[in-house]
Amino acid sequence: MPAGTPGNSCDIGIFDERGTDLGGPGFRGWSGGFRTSFAISRTEATPGYLPGPVNAGRWHVVLGPYQVAPQGLDYQVQVTVRFGTPGPDFKPDYPAGRARGRGRAWYRGDCHLHTVYSDGRRLPAEVAAGARAAGLDFMVSTDHNTSSSHGVWGPLAGPDLLIITGEEVTTRNGHWLALGLPPGTWIDWRYRSRDDAYPRFARQVHGHGGLVVPAHPFCPYIACQWKFGYQGADAVEVWNGPWTYDDESAVDSWDARLGEDLRSGRPWLPALGNSDAHSVPQVIGLPHNVVRADDLSRDAIIGGLRSGRSWIAESAGVQVDFTATGAGRQVGIGESLTVPADAPVDVRLVVSGVPGGTVRFITDEGQLHQESLPAAGTGAVTWRTTASLAAYVRAEVRHPLPDGTPGAGNTMGTTLPWGPMAALTNPILLRGTTG
Ligand SMILES: [Zn+2]
Ligand SMILES: [Zn+2]
Repeated sequence: MPAGTPGNSCDIGIFDERGTDLGGPGFRGWSGGFRTSFAISRTEATPGYLPGPVNAGRWHVVLGPYQVAPQGLDYQVQVTVRFGTPGPDFKPDYPAGRARGRGRAWYRGDCHLHTVYSDGRRLPAEVAAGARAAGLDFMVSTDHNTSSSHGVWGPLAGPDLLIITGEEVTTRNGHWLALGLPPGTWIDWRYRSRDDAYPRFARQVHGHGGLVVPAHPFCPYIACQWKFGYQGADAVEVWNGPWTYDDESAVDSWDARLGEDLRSGRPWLPALGNSDAHSVPQVIGLPHNVVRADDLSRDAIIGGLRSGRSWIAESAGVQVDFTATGAGRQVGIGESLTVPADAPVDVRLVVSGVPGGTVRFITDEGQLHQESLPAAGTGAVTWRTTASLAAYVRAEVRHPLPDGTPGAGNTMGTTLPWGPMAALTNPILLRGTTG
């Protein structure tokens, strides 16, 4: 077949006798294109599927022909029902909503992770171990289109690792993260942007106190580009896994929206970064969010992410402190500094862990300051502006280009102007007062 011709892939899932209504109670599991068979009983089920009563009535196998080759898709469904004495009920072991924490502090966490409960090859225990090895304080479980892993995380969480339950809602017009779902909650994905269902499910997540986060909005894979817009979103995943050109597009379009949001008085959309790690060798925590929260609890972490008091780190080896100081006040990432419009504001980034890195300060007028770090990768960069010159300031720390040069902002060329991202902050907002 010529390159670019789709092969066949068919997703599978099942609904029970309660029916297939959109968002209805009949959902009993989904394994996408990852499995060709599954089993369900009262006591246990194949990962991706929900154990529970197997009642009489009409069950519904759901087939999703995700890609169909030009010659068509042959398929066969075989169902085997075994009768016997029902086993004991499945008892989900949900993770606690709180870990030990350090009070109000910066906490590191990856909000987009897969396991064998959808299309990853890692067991939940391996993902939890990977989160600990990456130096994370929290992680969010986001298997595609199923809540079936929620009941296995309990014994894998601990005082040192908060595990938050979620889902990657995987539609045919893009993927979104539902973060901070009450354990056991499932969000339906069976709609496209042209349908009117997405707002209903975003509202459902908000009703549960969770976050709606469009994921990898410019990912070029089939059906992965985000087509639902940003109304109803609480944040956007601008950095997904190792740095690639679709992440540049995501950061650029996010940055463009900041100005629009500030003008309209809407809440601005915070940026998140997550690994989306599925399997070895994808690195858990590359990248992850560093969020300021009052405590290491589900509610405090979700609140911190919603407020934009967070920055994105390539690894726990990267440390950033970003502040703006003016008129005797100092604020940090995601916060707002109100000062006389022409009063000097000193923007300062202290960074470590990025050898040869380059710091960029970006405002609503574009990149206004660039400075390279020493070879050791540790340094402080200060730049003076005013609220009348900059409505917001955000910082990026970039690795050198492959030829070792730092790259240059405000230039055009045939290649990318920057090396990979090492750290990216949410903005600090500057609000000028007159008189
Ligand atoms: Zn995805
Ligand atoms: Zn994913």
